[in-house]
Amino acid sequence: MYQNAAKTQDETLDPQDWDALRSLGHRMLDDMLDYLATVRERPIWRPVPDEVRTALSGPVPRDPEGIDQAYADFKEFVLPYPFGNIHPRHWGWVNGTGSPSGALMEMLAATMNPNVAGFDQSARLVEEQVLDWMRSLMGFPEGAGGLLVSGASMANLIGLAVARNTRAGFDVRQEGVAAAPGMLTVYCSTETHTSVHKAVELLGLGRAALREIPVDGQYRIDLDVLRETITADRQQGRRPIAVVGTAGTVNTGAIDPLEPLAELCKAEDLWFHIDGAFGALLTLSADLGPLVAGLERADSLAFDLHKWIYLPYEAGCILIRDARHQQDSFTVPAAYLTPLTRGVAAAPWLADYGLQLSRQFRALKVWMSLKEHGVDKYARLIEQNVAQAQYLADKIEATPMLELLAPAPLNIVCFRYNPGHLEADALNLLNRDILVQVQERGIAVPSSTELQGRFALRVAHTNHRSRREDFDLLVDAVLKIGAELANRENNSKEPT
Ligand SMILES: *Cc1c(COP(=O)(O)O)cnc(C)c1O
Repeated sequence: MYQNAAKTQDETLDPQDWDALRSLGHRMLDDMLDYLATVRERPIWRPVPDEVRTALSGPVPRDPEGIDQAYADFKEFVLPYPFGNIHPRHWGWVNGTGSPSGALMEMLAATMNPNVAGFDQSARLVEEQVLDWMRSLMGFPEGAGGLLVSGASMANLIGLAVARNTRAGFDVRQEGVAAAPGMLTVYCSTETHTSVHKAVELLGLGRAALREIPVDGQYRIDLDVLRETITADRQQGRRPIAVVGTAGTVNTGAIDPLEPLAELCKAEDLWFHIDGAFGALLTLSADLGPLVAGLERADSLAFDLHKWIYLPYEAGCILIRDARHQQDSFTVPAAYLTPLTRGVAAAPWLADYGLQLSRQFRALKVWMSLKEHGVDKYARLIEQNVAQAQYLADKIEATPMLELLAPAPLNIVCFRYNPGHLEADALNLLNRDILVQVQERGIAVPSSTELQGRFALRVAHTNHRSRREDFDLLVDAVLKIGAELANRENNSKEPT
């Protein structure tokens, strides 16, 4: 017999003293709301000191330190060294800000802690209602399928898995991709997000199966080259299955021509997947929605809710035009998962629509936030982000030492400091230094990219806390640091 079986006192993780936990909980809540209310007053980022790195690398505790100590450690070692994405001047990569009420909603979801694999429970109904809202917002038909997932990466994977299984022309789930009569081929542009590459690799198609089509001067997929490549591939025995269009590329915010892509896919009998990670949400705005017309014609659409709905991480969504295709891709019958006609198991499995079985109550923060603010508020915030990015782009164009490096049609602005007399390499190095200093001085966090060999400071704006003056501050900092560094460069070149 296992020796502990003789124990008489049962243990639990529940507190012995609920009042003590309650008062700690109240303190945590106050601390966190204070932290959020004062975020603008703190530097956006600072390097993690060595002592803190050491404190965060010790061995696993065998004995209890207690929740008070754990919370004290959190406040000392964790809270002061954030990534910075909740700060009003974070515009790096494409990151969401989250929201104060969203943080509270996470607590509610974690408290209920349901497993939303399916089951006859409110949490599943909430997710289904949220999916229904997403379906109608994105203009997808009744009968469309969907799922809340961790983010656009997972949504792209699910969309492309369904694309592969539906359009391969044979039973891929049974036979595997090795049974393909010709290389199953997917098309996208050179500006496509890396999550699409990962998905194609994971689906066993191989990177050679992903045709990256060049873009035009606006960084949109070149339709003529796309059409020619598909035709040539067919002639050479490949089997084209899908085209990935992007609504809002990560580099420059370009929007592929979605209507023509939908037409082309129809004519060529190809699956049309759209990565609309942030761009799909433009559809909420009456003014900006027309930019992504054609979105509703996709066979599958991936988008995030932690970028342009500003929800706390993680929240993404996949929509599939025909729910049956989605189910056909993921259902695996199992005796222990058979739905019953009554009781807890009398419900469809959401797990039949994606990879995860156990699933968090991600839908609650979506559901409550949309109720709290209403869709129109989000539309206005998205419009505000685009207008602020345009303000920055205009300001850059009007500033002699600054140079816009790509068209900025949306919320992404790529630019550099250019004093005019430097070689290409020196200019790249200078701008790299400027970026690092802007970050290390705790001023702002833009990120970077490379456009036609030119290093660019890149502002990707999905931040509901930013004000116009924050962009003025960025421009001033870039000019000031640029001048300092360029001077230093000049001085060091002078003969001594
Ligand atoms: C952010 C982004 C992704 C990846 O989304 P995650 O939520 O980070 O998984 C994919 N495509 C585009 C265009 C993105 O901006």
